[in-house]
Amino acid sequence: MKKKCCRCGQLLPVTKFGVENRALDGLRGHCVLCEGKYRRKYLKRNPWITAYRAAKSRCTNPKDKAYKYYGGKGIKFELTGWQIRFLWLKASARAMKRPSLDRIKNTKNYVMWNCQFIEHGENVTKSNHSRKGIKYKKG
Ligand SMILES: [Zn+2]
Repeated sequence: MKKKCCRCGQLLPVTKFGVENRALDGLRGHCVLCEGKYRRKYLKRNPWITAYRAAKSRCTNPKDKAYKYYGGKGIKFELTGWQIRFLWLKASARAMKRPSLDRIKNTKNYVMWNCQFIEHGENVTKSNHSRKGIKYKKG
């Protein structure tokens, strides 16, 4: 059985299509090759997704190498994709070489107030903050 891809227009065996339960024939409209292209494009436009997935996996996936330091220690992942996106934009993480999602307090969960994007390997962030003069206004 063959199916035509709605993106590239190629007639391909159905095995080249992903499963999509909502679709009438149970298959995605586009082939796996187009899906790979789409995913890369999507990641380019939403680079924070990588950090989101990695952090979530550290906290919720016991098979993750870092799980024992996060989920295994009771660290919970309570951020939504939108919150991570917000943090990403706030920190201008796009301009960083290797942005990493950092918890301000190591013992606390992944929640909005405890998270920020910093340059990977940068562990002097807190002193940077006072140098840059970022302060919370009172009242
Ligand atoms: Zn295709």
